[in-house]
Amino acid sequence: MILHERSRNRPVHLGPFPLESLPRKPALDLEESERDQLAEPRPWPVQGGSLGLAARKYFDLFMQYRQARPAAAKAPVPDNWQRRSADIKGGIYFLNGAHAGICRIPGRAWIAGHDIPDHNYAIVIVVEHGRVPEPDNIAHDWLAAANDETGLTRAAGIAVNIANYCGLLGYSATAHAGAMTDVDIERLAVLAGVCCRSEGGVVSPFLDDHISLAAVSTSYDLATDLPIAPTRHAGAGWRYWWGINGAESGRERQRRARRATHLSAYPMEEVRRVERPTTLILDEEVPRVPQRASFFERARVGDLGGRAARERNRFAVKNPSSMAYARMIRGMQPLQDGFVQAADRSLYADPEANARALKSLAYALGADLAGICEIPRYAWYSHRADGTPIEAYHRYAVVLLIDQGFETMEGASGDDWISGSQSMRAYMRGSEIAGIMGELLRAIGFPARSQTSIDSDVLHIPLILWAGLGELSRIGELVLNPYVGPRFKSVVLTTDMPLAVDKPVDFGLQQFCSSCLKCARECPCDAIPVGNPVMFNGYEMWKIDAERCTRYRVTNARGAGCGRCMKTCPLNKVPTADGALLHRVANWLGIHARWLKPLLVPIAVYLDDRLGYGRINPVKKWWLDLEIVDGVSVTPQAGTNRRDIDYHQQRDTQREKIVYYHASLMPPPDQSEPCPVDRKQAKLMAGLIESPAQARARTAAGGATPAHYLPTPPLQQARTVKE
Ligand code: SF4
Ligand code: SF4
Repeated sequence: MILHERSRNRPVHLGPFPLESLPRKPALDLEESERDQLAEPRPWPVQGGSLGLAARKYFDLFMQYRQARPAAAKAPVPDNWQRRSADIKGGIYFLNGAHAGICRIPGRAWIAGHDIPDHNYAIVIVVEHGRVPEPDNIAHDWLAAANDETGLTRAAGIAVNIANYCGLLGYSATAHAGAMTDVDIERLAVLAGVCCRSEGGVVSPFLDDHISLAAVSTSYDLATDLPIAPTRHAGAGWRYWWGINGAESGRERQRRARRATHLSAYPMEEVRRVERPTTLILDEEVPRVPQRASFFERARVGDLGGRAARERNRFAVKNPSSMAYARMIRGMQPLQDGFVQAADRSLYADPEANARALKSLAYALGADLAGICEIPRYAWYSHRADGTPIEAYHRYAVVLLIDQGFETMEGASGDDWISGSQSMRAYMRGSEIAGIMGELLRAIGFPARSQTSIDSDVLHIPLILWAGLGELSRIGELVLNPYVGPRFKSVVLTTDMPLAVDKPVDFGLQQFCSSCLKCARECPCDAIPVGNPVMFNGYEMWKIDAERCTRYRVTNARGAGCGRCMKTCPLNKVPTADGALLHRVANWLGIHARWLKPLLVPIAVYLDDRLGYGRINPVKKWWLDLEIVDGVSVTPQAGTNRRDIDYHQQRDTQREKIVYYHASLMPPPDQSEPCPVDRKQAKLMAGLIESPAQARARTAAGGATPAHYLPTPPLQQARTVKE
């Protein structure tokens, strides 16, 4: 507990609540099995005003995917049914379910006439409702009316993902939620040991009736759970309070519950605020860049060669769970923008109140951190991937961060088969949260668009900086937050709703990263620099070799993608009441006792290695290593990366191989044909790099913008100029 978080030895499939500690009552099995059969699903009228309707739109979308198509062949899943159940439950907890349980489906649990003959098992999912904001918060009325809808939508989303996952393993499966169900979900929740009966329904032993339920019926054989004895208020016990079983403790939950709803679980309000980001940004010189220049797009078009082009569309979805998430992400894309309804906007004249409401809503829907900024000119891409120009169209960005999940990262190498799923899960959650928020804003009269991983007109990195959610780190184009470290993905909601903005933060990261090289040492392809920050396209940053990083992530044969730098970073910790005492003290000192940094950072970096942080914790590995080949899940053909940290390894600082693709080396925004990368040229262009001090001196003396900051013009424009 002093050196490691309390949950260190708790397998992920047990979940955040100590369900396993509750007494079981097998006799309830018979009692529940013999209850009267439902003649039809329980009615589920749409309630909850504009937010309820927004959530229902997503619920309906998710449930379009409720019937999974089984893959052409069965996956090589374990013979041990307990291990299969651990994989399924781990997947539910990874997706933020509160409880997960499994039971056989008795005949009377089917709605009359709806039974699916080969579906013998039910996987039951319980989701906790978001917090209803304070009465003086605008979001109070939104959520007080719609918590059932938003909770049900989250539960349905998880169920559909799990059903599709079972389908990709080669088994038949169907998701059930709300009125779109073939089963009596409440009865199954009792049989699966996640709920107990109460007057008029079922309740969670820890969350009472602040829950929504969904289920998956399947032909996949799984180990089952037993019903729990009726223990409505199990959460009141001292063992739960102190998190004795390694589960989330009651006192940590109470600490969070006491915070205002517009504040995150972390005290970001205590972090020092500054007028500008802590790394130099030359506002007038930063070029607007086209989507075509992003290295993932370059890989897709073929700029990185045939192998990278072939793998580009597969790399993040070549594991069955990430494939399931990707279906949902693509499904949500058409809902990112839409019609703005005529409405009385006078209710929303106060930018402070609006900002508070949007943050409370984001947290209730499941975001981990939220910040707001005005959108600087250079945060808009110049052109879409098809070459059409983008004009700035909204004033504000609501920036949301989704934690990729500490526990799963603990069990992973960072570049194994769960890596792509970690990213895709966060992207999926972000698309859902920002999408529902955008629907709501348009319904109350404000233009809004969610800017997601697959379709964004804005660059997220400068917005995360300006919205006060972190500082740029040695990992290059990656912002690091003082509480969740680098372990997050972002989604942005752009809008013209009047909003109060946040200020950038300064928690001394530049000093920390200057003394720490762990990510650079652990990167499998030496893409992270070991030297000092430089100026790149108007930004001061540790410039990573984006080509090499992208190539590794896309073509990694022994895993799906890579996030090893995030996994091994010393700031990837849990600094809450459930975290290790040492981490909480170090986190507090890092933020509040900045003057101690020169002394403490080298010690922290040294200890991080010697205490084994960043190693793989096998207790946390819940998933199955599987690769999808031709639509079928198979044992990974090239094996699985399980590399561990190696603190004896040294990077030769003299042989730094970073190359720089300045704006002038980018492909034309409208070039649909491959424009192969010119690595030699990019290496030569290292000679043009300025240090931040040189850039400051140049701009102070009125020097011109360097020519290599000017992006390659569109082919169309170049042709016109020639003519
Ligand atoms: Fe290196 Fe992987 Fe991080 Fe890229 S994602 S910089 S390859 S560790
Ligand atoms: Fe900074 Fe060290 Fe984390 Fe890299 S590993 S981002 S250098 S703190």
